[in-house]
Amino acid sequence: MPELLEVEAYRRATAVVVGGVITAVQCPDPRFLRRTVDAAELSAALADAAVVAVERRGKVMLVCTDAGHTLGVRFAMTGRVIVDGHEPIPELKYGPRGGDTASPRFIMSTTAGTVTVVDPRRLGSLHLDPDLTQLGPDASTLSVAELRSALECRRPLKAALLDQGRVAGLGNLLADESLWRARLAPGRPALDLDMDEERRLARTIVATVAQLGRRGGSHTGDLQAARDARGACPRCGTPLQVARIGGRTTLWCPVEQR
Ligand SMILES: [Zn+2]
Repeated sequence: MPELLEVEAYRRATAVVVGGVITAVQCPDPRFLRRTVDAAELSAALADAAVVAVERRGKVMLVCTDAGHTLGVRFAMTGRVIVDGHEPIPELKYGPRGGDTASPRFIMSTTAGTVTVVDPRRLGSLHLDPDLTQLGPDASTLSVAELRSALECRRPLKAALLDQGRVAGLGNLLADESLWRARLAPGRPALDLDMDEERRLARTIVATVAQLGRRGGSHTGDLQAARDARGACPRCGTPLQVARIGGRTTLWCPVEQR
């Protein structure tokens, strides 16, 4: 499932069309528009505009144009980008395997290349001029102050980190890896962290995102092999605990994560 790092890879791949002029947009599946805009309206807003930037906020990719409109793409569980037939992440962990181009939901042709969004389960969506005020600060640059205000709730720590309105960009793997590295239990009330713990967690999230980005994605964490095997903590050998927290399968070390 695409997290911040995978969407960042999509963003980089899509950026080849910066400077190109949009010649056509196709929405083979109108349901992908989630009734926020209709296909004709989207086409009118984007056609003949030049792409001036491709940005990312959390897990949302933003195609910015010189017509004043921005296209937002949410990838959800199984969304992927293919640029000129090339797929930036052919083996997306926990996603559909490469080669499945049978479910195009959006095709944007430009003079600099063609961007196709495929999404077999169709849980992703397109938005014209998306409202980004609902998104929290990006996890890749999260400050201690931003994390502190994100954790002002009684929900479990892991659930707060997954809430895109609190911190944008973390998915299940990045959240578990960061909490394991910071030695914090995922089920603790978010509000309970002291200042040292908040500082440690903010620093750990930023460092984890950067390191896993260099390694190649959210699935390259130090916890991943043990996670896949439902095995033992790679640091201390204690069998990992498994539970559903924040609606997602969560693994942690019951000895070290407090
Ligand atoms: Zn451990």
